[in-house]
Amino acid sequence: MRGAVLYGAGDVRFEERPDPKIVEPTDAIIKISATCVCGSDLWSYRGVNPISEPTPFGHEYCGIVEEVGGAVKTVRPGQFVIGSFFASDNTCPHCLAGYQSSCQHRVLMGAAQWNMLRVPLADGTLVATPEVPSDDLVASLLTLSDVMGTGWFAADAANVKAGKTVAVVGDGAVGLLAVLSARQMGSERIIAMSRHPARQKLAREFGATDIVVERGDQGVARIKDLTKGIGADAVLECVGTEESMWQAIHASRPGGTMAYVGVPHGVSLDGQALFFSHVRLHGGPAPVRRYLPELIDLVWKRKIDPGKVFDLKLPLDQVAEGYRAMHERRAIKTLLRP
Ligand SMILES: [Zn+2]
Ligand SMILES: [Zn+2]
Repeated sequence: MRGAVLYGAGDVRFEERPDPKIVEPTDAIIKISATCVCGSDLWSYRGVNPISEPTPFGHEYCGIVEEVGGAVKTVRPGQFVIGSFFASDNTCPHCLAGYQSSCQHRVLMGAAQWNMLRVPLADGTLVATPEVPSDDLVASLLTLSDVMGTGWFAADAANVKAGKTVAVVGDGAVGLLAVLSARQMGSERIIAMSRHPARQKLAREFGATDIVVERGDQGVARIKDLTKGIGADAVLECVGTEESMWQAIHASRPGGTMAYVGVPHGVSLDGQALFFSHVRLHGGPAPVRRYLPELIDLVWKRKIDPGKVFDLKLPLDQVAEGYRAMHERRAIKTLLRP
């Protein structure tokens, strides 16, 4: 198989390794149709999360099932499937409660920026599309593996509904798809925080009604201005820094909900400030497996087009440029095709 190996900060290489094999009877091997670079990959690429040895990379994937282990019942060769960045059994108490990314047997996926992938717990992890999709649907289906599912979780965790005012902190791919999710869930007023014209444009296409370019306290003040001094009912935090977390908490009205889906780095929140904010917090690694059937249906019926977040499409052997472009913020998100 061929794909991406991260050697250290700024050093991604395209390499060849032996093909993956069925290890457990619950495994499936899939032939990747498309994969992509995640904002969270950049933490390692930038050296913020150092790696100890050269590591095959990537965790967002979709493709055709090539082979399944003897215990796999619901997934069969030839199907087009999508799975979460956490494999899960989908049967334990946490899975049954809808938190498959906290599954008691979860496995964090790696080595998805490759042309072949071993998926553990295939029955619980993979969801097949009604048929093999036409090529123009593949990008949108791929987003369901993480980025769209994560934006959707942000909106769901913040209890977004018709009539609610939503603010989205972060204009990366997750933030933009959080806008799309809030729109799909019926919110008419969606304030996107972004200072990049190309991202503002996409936010508007996805349903943002207002754009706030200011950050920090000024950004909060703008959101208060736009909401008669009250604050937003739901704030979706899609960055993961201390500044963005506070911006989100302070932009929320008392009794509102702040959902955080950006992986926190260097964040510590003061208890007393949280106490007096009166804001409900919910977040974490998105249980995207919970949403796969519903989101596949929306993409399949062409009601949503989350694949628009891919503004750079490269063959997989140019994966190094895919990382570089996102690192330098020349690209929102890079799609890779083997
Ligand atoms: Zn990801
Ligand atoms: Zn489970």
